[in-house]
Amino acid sequence: MMCDPLILAVPGVRGLVPYEPGKPIEELERELGVKNAIKLASNENPYGPSPRAQAAAVAALGHVSRYPDGGAFALKRALAGRLYVGERQITLGNGSNDVLELIARTFLSPGEVAVCDQFAFAAYPISVRGIGAEMIMVPSRDYAHDLEAMASALSPAVRMVFLANPNNPTGTWFSRDDLERFLAACPKSTIVVLDEAYFEYVSDAAYPDGRTFLDRHPNLIVVRTFSKVYGLAGLRLGFALSSPALADLMNRLRQPFNVNAVAQAAAIAALEDQAYVAEMAAINAQEREALRTSLAALGVTALPSVGNFLCLKVGDAPRLYQALLRTGVIVRPLGPYGMPHHVRVTVGRPEENARFLRELSVLLDPVRET
Ligand SMILES: *Cc1c(COP(=O)(O)O)cnc(C)c1O
Repeated sequence: MMCDPLILAVPGVRGLVPYEPGKPIEELERELGVKNAIKLASNENPYGPSPRAQAAAVAALGHVSRYPDGGAFALKRALAGRLYVGERQITLGNGSNDVLELIARTFLSPGEVAVCDQFAFAAYPISVRGIGAEMIMVPSRDYAHDLEAMASALSPAVRMVFLANPNNPTGTWFSRDDLERFLAACPKSTIVVLDEAYFEYVSDAAYPDGRTFLDRHPNLIVVRTFSKVYGLAGLRLGFALSSPALADLMNRLRQPFNVNAVAQAAAIAALEDQAYVAEMAAINAQEREALRTSLAALGVTALPSVGNFLCLKVGDAPRLYQALLRTGVIVRPLGPYGMPHHVRVTVGRPEENARFLRELSVLLDPVRET
């Protein structure tokens, strides 16, 4: 007789709920027969990568019979030069989700405790609970990280804390002073994981660059990605910046070929085209605020956001999500985050944002909060 497959899994995995990614366009078109669907559900760059990155990726396809450079010499040199860090401070991952999991596996044992915000990015609890450690979720304040409450939750027994700046799915962020205070209050035996997936989009002068805190805080790990402003989500490339000592530990566990050759080549070219990054960030800020203004005119409020997405309060969010799907517009309902009245929408191209607003204006009234 078959035994219960659940008992075959390690304890941490038994309680996991599968992550629900944004619905792929092809899946929607297959399921509902919708044509010309648009996806505003995974915070990708709607303009794609720099043409230089694309050309480098195509050229790299000519050499895929060879294993990639497991040490990623050229990419690390390019990153180190761009970010003013040492090459030995870099740990690469197959997307920053891979890096987050690597961090949990390197520094957390089963039964140990980590802390994050109530509405923090879903990859953190999955990585922590998957290895049988415990994740404590600290209540948010106005949907933002309550850094004082999070600091109060720390003790030497808490091995790790996750901060997302800005956070996804809320878009909220904290200042350099807030981070300074938090790090000063944090025990040196607690690893601080600072996720800056949207770093390049943020222009506010008070927004901190986590990298500049590394010298004074050897327990800090800053995580970034090529999936957002760089437009390379499909190639999977993220990285951690830390002290060389922490990077050495993570690199002992890292799969040697976790970053493929095409991603490495594309990323090097993408880093060289900083004019493109600046242009993408400027367009995003303009479109995001235009979208916010149009939403306000419809009576829909968005949380403050410095990323390439807005978190909207819409009433019956699952119903709105389904209704939008039938029009070919994919957004992200936030029920899995415990936000059943909110959806997250990625800032798209102007014509995509206009289509979203048009469909939303028709569908909004029946789902509005009663
Ligand atoms: C999108 C996102 C990432 C990026 O994940 P990748 O695995 O690099 O694609 C990481 N953290 C947050 C908070 C994000 O929103």
